[in-house]
Amino acid sequence: MEDAIQFVKEAEATVSRESEAAARTAWVNSNFITYDTNWLSAKSSEKMTTLGVELAQKASTFRDLDLPADVARKINLLRLGLTLPAPAGDTEATAELAQITTDLEASYGKGKYCPEDGKTVLGSYARPDGCLSLTELEHVIGSSSNPDELLEAWSGWRTISPAMKDKYARMVDIANAGAEGLGFKDVGTMWRSKYDMDADAFAGDVDRLWGEVKPLYDALQCHVRAKLNESYGDEVVPLDQAIPAHLLGNMWAQSWGNVYDKVAPEGTAPAYDLTALLAEKNYSELDMVKTAEGFFTSVGFDPLPETFYERSLFLKPEDRDVVCHASAWNLNDIDDIRIKMCIKVDAEDFQTIHHEIGHNIYQRAYSVQDPLFRNDPNDGFHEAIGDMIALSITPDYLQQIGLLEDLPPAEADLGILLRQALDKVAFLPFGLMVDKWRWQVFSGELTPDSYNDGWWKLREQYQGVRAPNDRPADAFDPGAKFHIPGNTPYMRYFLSHIFQFQFQKAACDLAGWEGPLHRCSIYGNEAVGEKFNEMLEMGASKPWQDALAAFTGKSEADATAILAYFAPLKEWLDEQNADRECGW
Ligand SMILES: [Zn+2]
Repeated sequence: MEDAIQFVKEAEATVSRESEAAARTAWVNSNFITYDTNWLSAKSSEKMTTLGVELAQKASTFRDLDLPADVARKINLLRLGLTLPAPAGDTEATAELAQITTDLEASYGKGKYCPEDGKTVLGSYARPDGCLSLTELEHVIGSSSNPDELLEAWSGWRTISPAMKDKYARMVDIANAGAEGLGFKDVGTMWRSKYDMDADAFAGDVDRLWGEVKPLYDALQCHVRAKLNESYGDEVVPLDQAIPAHLLGNMWAQSWGNVYDKVAPEGTAPAYDLTALLAEKNYSELDMVKTAEGFFTSVGFDPLPETFYERSLFLKPEDRDVVCHASAWNLNDIDDIRIKMCIKVDAEDFQTIHHEIGHNIYQRAYSVQDPLFRNDPNDGFHEAIGDMIALSITPDYLQQIGLLEDLPPAEADLGILLRQALDKVAFLPFGLMVDKWRWQVFSGELTPDSYNDGWWKLREQYQGVRAPNDRPADAFDPGAKFHIPGNTPYMRYFLSHIFQFQFQKAACDLAGWEGPLHRCSIYGNEAVGEKFNEMLEMGASKPWQDALAAFTGKSEADATAILAYFAPLKEWLDEQNADRECGW
């Protein structure tokens, strides 16, 4: 036991030291992309991976000891710290696994579709070399209404992934051996063990949540299919089948906001245009950041440190390459918090800034914990907290901060709710099925021969979405979604879509809000902020169920909040669907 305690103490010191160095390297790399910073960054992540493997292996040797709760929790966090474990002591397999994961990510990153001469309807979208990268193909999927263009863009992107399949299968074998060495049946079981409950119980829990939201999803799917049928006709969208995946405005049919105009309620123009309001009031990028900071100070959080403003990146630099994708950082795991984004003065970035600073506030809140607990208690929490804050950007909030003069009438909400549902409700079954597929792959239930059919079986079962054409025998369509070759677990996104509404409902209940949930903003409510902070500052020190209970009073994930949020929309969808045959 003393060895275990000593090991944890040293591991914590090492992790603190090394992760600060790694974070600063990654920051410099993302802010100044050059040959050398790429080199430094690769070295640094290699070092962190090696450290992670060592710590996980050593930690797993203490797993059967009867240890004090916080030591046992830290041992378990170290043991579960890897996504794809290499087998202990097998240097050859370790190197092969590292090579495969690098190759898979690189083939995704470099992936492009190069149609044969004269056999394409996408010529006008292609680059000078005649090929289309994901950027061009996503542009087609997001904006075209021509089924031939959509189908070619959809199929074209999926030509990048057959080459990944054999490597992927080999990777599954190696990582499964590694997971076994750490005491897990397979990698899927290991991933499901990260939730402070039995791995099988976790699988049961996500099924329960899905069962709760399925009626809402089914109503949305039915309405969207009917409207797409009006646009494209029976030939392309038969009313008795799942929706062909190329028509939903997104390369993976995972969020459907781009088809809003095709499915929107008639005669409900948006009540206000936040982008226009920001322009009218002459908001600068910095004004947007200060406004979001004001949201958090209004509920009682300390102002952001001076260094936040000195060290963050707000504007796209003109003289160098940076990673513009918005992100929130805490460089020393204490208070060196920053955001990095290339802000545009528009509604989307107004939301994103609130979301990112939400991450910063969370990071700073849990810095009171021991280093290994400076994290969220499960991987759905961080995103849920950022998104929950963005849910408070209501007309009422915009009016209080002087952006909006008159509150829109209740009738105007339907369009806003539908637009949100096309992103957040449509996403749910996709968020669920990606790892359902991987669980089956890692358990051996699916084999390389059945990888692709198994993928489409789940897509159809959960999403009511189908492949728009016969898939080639060598197809590996899962590989055309970044998180598969990138090996990023996905259940976190499903969970965050459930939790964000659960948090929001709890916050609004605390505030004594009695109106419709989607109109509630916690802006200015210090009592809610105080309770919220109780959950945030726990970090990963306790099971997530305890953190959830600290704020919501409930220790179970609960999907009834998302149902309450979208209740007015569900009522409208049911009216629309009254004479339709739903289901697939
Ligand atoms: Zn985020």
